Amino acid sequence: ALDPSSLVTFGSAAAGHDGVLSDPSGELVIKPCTPAEIAFYESANTSHPDLAAYMPLYMGTLQLSAPGSTTPTIPPEKGAEVGTAATLALSDPGPLKGKKLDTGVSIVLENVAAGFRKPNIMDIKLGARLYDDSTKPEKRARLDKVAAETTSSSLGFRIAGMRTWQGEKSETVGGDETVSLEAGSGYKIFNKMYGRKFSAENVMDAFREYVLVPSAGVSKPQAADCVRRFLKDLKDLRQIFENVESRMYSASILLVYEGDPEAYAAATKAETDYLAQEAKQGDDKEEDEEAPPKIAVVKLIDFAHASWTPGNGPDENLLQGVRSTIKIMEKLATELGTS
Ligand code: ADP
Ligand code: MN
Repeated sequence: ALDPSSLVTFGSAAAGHDGVLSDPSGELVIKPCTPAEIAFYESANTSHPDLAAYMPLYMGTLQLSAPGSTTPTIPPEKGAEVGTAATLALSDPGPLKGKKLDTGVSIVLENVAAGFRKPNIMDIKLGARLYDDSTKPEKRARLDKVAAETTSSSLGFRIAGMRTWQGEKSETVGGDETVSLEAGSGYKIFNKMYGRKFSAENVMDAFREYVLVPSAGVSKPQAADCVRRFLKDLKDLRQIFENVESRMYSASILLVYEGDPEAYAAATKAETDYLAQEAKQGDDKEEDEEAPPKIAVVKLIDFAHASWTPGNGPDENLLQGVRSTIKIMEKLATELGTS
């Protein structure tokens, strides 16, 4: 069961608000959320399973309430994985400040970065329009201004943040005030201002910086392989979105790849062995066979302003960002020398 007092600050967030938590195993992300996000996750599995496959696994919700509060508990939908404890009674909400906690409800998700030794993460915020219909004029104007000044308007996405592991011996990182070295972890942190500096003409530099990390030993062949894996999923996602009627404002593509070259080598070998084993065994596959370690993952996250909109056709605002990302990844793949 999930022990409330054991929750810790989630250390692998690449962007977004403070207040994201994790459990001791690191398998879960517990995030303050909006009712719209809960509704979206709860309906995705049944109404759009193809899209749900690209969303983090939804485990349920947690009611974060002060002791003595009469707020009812919301039981997790799929609590089996996390145990049955659904109520968190925290006397001190600690880092959980801000608007989203006002409802007191957090969402419990699979941590997409779990299973990697050194997850290198990029958050790509989708859309030129970044607000839903309920947003007030002042906020619309603010978000439109940032979009106009960044690749959000020209490409339909901007890089909201990144984290890349720099290797064991890293003590400094080059760059301006938009990057820093995280104390203790060896991660280079690219903050939200980093991605705002780029234009459509040079944003590929940021993608190159993300997939190629020489100080950690992430080589061109590894980068090329990871880009190829990202592309496969991104094209699949594009096709899914061409056939789904939804609107998502300020959702993100979350990219994760194995940033430790040794772990990457082990994972590709395990994958080869796994596929060979699968081919040999055919249908009578043994149940207890473990999936190979992760190499590169593409997920869609952040559905605070997402809804199903039957009859309205595909989400062109979101698709522009997905298509632009694919174009840049294809250029990068060519440059890195993939087939
Ligand atoms: P917001 O932007 O509203 O604060 P997000 O859902 O975008 O919330 O989450 C913020 C950050 O937390 C993301 O940039 C991502 O790095 C991380 N994150 C969110 N959900 C997950 C998840 N399921 N697995 C791994 N990381 C996540
Ligand atoms: Mn976000």
